[in-house]
Amino acid sequence: MSSLSGPPSAPAAGVPTHCPYCALQCGMTLHRDTGPGAVDAGPADGGPVRVEPASGGLCQKGWTAADLLDHPDRLRTPLLRPAKGDDQQPASWDRAIGTVVATLRRLRADHGPDAVAVFGGGGLTNEKAYALGKFARVALRTRYIDYNGRFCMSAAAAAGNAAFGLDRGLPFPVSDIAAADLVLLAGANSAETMPPFVRNLTAQRRTGGQLIVIDPRATPTAREATLHLQPTPGTDLALANGLLHVLVAEGLVDQGYVAARTSGFAAVAACVAGYWPARVEQITGVPADDIITAARLLGAARRAILLTGRGVEQHAHGTATVTAFINLALATGRPGTPGSGYGCITGQGNGQGGREHGQKADQLPGYRSISDPAAREHVAGVWGIRADELPGPGVSALELIDRLGADRGGPRALLRFGANPVVSAPNAGRVAERLRALDLLVVADFVPSETAALADVVLPTTQWAEEAGTMTNLEGRILRRRPVRPPPTGVRTDLEIISALATGLGSPSGFPTDPEAVFTELRAASAGGRADYAGVSWQRLDAGERLHWPVPHETHPGTPRLFTDGFATADRRAVFTPVELPPAVEEVCQAYPYRLTTGRVLSQYQSGAQTRRIAALRAEPFVELHPDLAARLAIDDGALVRVVSRRGELVAAARLSEMIRPDTLFAPFHWPGAAMANAVTSDALDPVAGMPQFKLCAVDVRPA
Ligand code: SF4
Repeated sequence: MSSLSGPPSAPAAGVPTHCPYCALQCGMTLHRDTGPGAVDAGPADGGPVRVEPASGGLCQKGWTAADLLDHPDRLRTPLLRPAKGDDQQPASWDRAIGTVVATLRRLRADHGPDAVAVFGGGGLTNEKAYALGKFARVALRTRYIDYNGRFCMSAAAAAGNAAFGLDRGLPFPVSDIAAADLVLLAGANSAETMPPFVRNLTAQRRTGGQLIVIDPRATPTAREATLHLQPTPGTDLALANGLLHVLVAEGLVDQGYVAARTSGFAAVAACVAGYWPARVEQITGVPADDIITAARLLGAARRAILLTGRGVEQHAHGTATVTAFINLALATGRPGTPGSGYGCITGQGNGQGGREHGQKADQLPGYRSISDPAAREHVAGVWGIRADELPGPGVSALELIDRLGADRGGPRALLRFGANPVVSAPNAGRVAERLRALDLLVVADFVPSETAALADVVLPTTQWAEEAGTMTNLEGRILRRRPVRPPPTGVRTDLEIISALATGLGSPSGFPTDPEAVFTELRAASAGGRADYAGVSWQRLDAGERLHWPVPHETHPGTPRLFTDGFATADRRAVFTPVELPPAVEEVCQAYPYRLTTGRVLSQYQSGAQTRRIAALRAEPFVELHPDLAARLAIDDGALVRVVSRRGELVAAARLSEMIRPDTLFAPFHWPGAAMANAVTSDALDPVAGMPQFKLCAVDVRPA
C-alpha cells in the first residue's frame, strides 16, 4: 500500500504525475526544487516544487500549477463560524469535525437522512469520487448527492448512453484524431481550453486532413478550420439535422453500416427531411452552400471523427443536440469503425472518472444505475450493507441546490468537496441565496473560494502534488497521480476528512484513508459494471501500462477502442433517435435584444478559484462584442459595459472583436463579483440530463 502523505523526499529524477486541471491530463514531472536560491522548508512545510513537462507539452495553466502550493491564500487550518452572521475563525481539527458531526447527527435525527446533501466535483480523483458516493449512501443514507460534472458533460453522457449503451468521452485514443481525414468539431475552442490537444488537429491538417469547426465565434480554433460554420447560438441541432438532410439527399449515407450496426434510421431520415439547406440557413444563419459543402466533405471522408464540446452541450436541449451529431456520425458509419468515431471532449480534470464512480445522483460505482436491483445488490455487498438500505436516486446538481434550506423543505446541510458553485453555477445569485439558507454549509478546499466564504465550516485539504490517486482522462485511460511532497502542517486529505466524518457518524462500513486501499475497493465495486476497473491495479499503472476501461481482469489489456464489434446495447446495435429543434427557452425581445454566450479563456480554469490566484495567469474579465454593435450603442473598446438579463447583471470592460456575430455577446465565466457572467446566465435545464443552459440567454447591453 502506498503512503498517504507521499515520499519524504522526491527521487532526483522527479515524480511523474499529471496536470491538476483539464481532462487532457497532460503528463508532467515534479521536482522538489533545490536549485540556487530555493529554500527547502522540509517535509513539515511542503517545500517548493518545479514542474517539467512530459513529452506532450503543457499549456500555461499546467506550467504554473505549482505556484498555488504555497500561495499566501492557501488554507492551512480549519475555519469555524461560531454563529450565523459571525466571521469565520480558526479552529482545531477536533473542534471542526466534532461540530460538523454533531450538527449532522442532530439534523438527521430531527429531519431524516435526506436533511443532509453532498456536492462533489469533476476534479476529484477516482478514489475521492468513489469515497464521497459511498459516504453519502452508507454513512449519511441520503439520496441527495450530485456534482459539478453535471454542468460539464451530462448532456453528452445522456446522449451517448442512449445511442451506444455506454458513455466514454472518447471511445478511441486521442491520437486517432491526428490520422483522420476529416474532423468535425462542434462547440469546442480547444486552442484556448486545452492547447496541447490542438497538436492532433495540426498534424491532421498537415497530412491533408480537413477540419470543420462549428462555433458562433471565430475562435483561434475556428480560424484554423478548412470550413467554419458560425450558427446562431442554440441552433446547432438544426445545423446537424441539415447536414444529415444533405447526406440523405445526395446518397452519402453508409447504408451497409446503417443496416448492419444500427436501428431506427428510417425515423431519423423522415425527421431530417424537414431540414433542407435553405430552411436551415434561415434558422442558423449558416449559408446553405456551406451546409452542402460540409456535408459532402463529411460524406466523402474515408476516416472521419466528430467531436462535440460544451458549446453544443450546455443548452436546455443539449442532449437532443448531441443526439443530432451522433445521428450524423452513425449515418456516415463512423462509431466503432477504426480510425473514425464520435466523441465528447470532456472538460474537468477527472470529468470522465468523476462520472463513473458514484457521486452522480442516479449512479453507483462502475457506471451502474442506482435503480437497478442487481447493481444495488452487488455494490451493497461490497459495502457490507443490505441493498434495501441504499437510498434511491436523487436529483441533478442545480435541482439539488434549488431545494436547499428549511424554507424549501429540502436538505438543511450541504457538504461540498471540489466545486465552487457560487461562481460556476448558472443564475449564481440564486445559488448563493440557497447556500445562505442552510443550517450548515461545510466546504473542503485548499483556497478560500467564493463558496468557502459562505461556509459555516471550512476544512483545508491537500493539493494535487501532495496526494496519491488515479484520474481517468478524456479517452477513458486511467492515470496515476503521485505526490512529490507531503502536505503542509494542518492540512488533511479529502479521504481523511470523509473517513473522520463517517467514523463520527457511526458508519457501518469502513472508510480507508489510504488511496490505494480505496482504489482496491473501487475495483471490486466496479467489477462487472460498464466502467469496469476490476483489472486495473496501481502496480500495472506504475509499470507503465496504458489501460483504458473496461479492464475486467488483471490480464486484460484494456479497451482503447470501444464498439469495434458491437455496441453496449441489448441487441449490440447503435440507436438512432429523431430530434427536432425545440422552441427557445428564452427568446430575444425588445427588452433583451441580444444573445449572450459564455465560455473560457486560455489562462483560466473553470470558476477561477485556483488560476485567478496565480500571478502569471493574471487576466481581466471582459465582454466581447462586434464593432458594428458597439458603434450602434456608442461603446468604446475597453469601456465598461453593463449586461443585463432577466436574472441579474454583470459589469466588465468591452472587448471589440470581429470574432463574434453582431447579434451575440461573449463573456468568460471565471470571475466573481460584479463581473460574474453566471449572475446573468439561464438556469433552464435539459429535461434528460439536468444540464443548465449556460450557453445562451437573452440580454441587453449598455455603457455602464
Ligand atoms: Fe493542464 Fe489541460 Fe493545460 Fe494540459 S491542456 S497543461 S491538462 S490545463
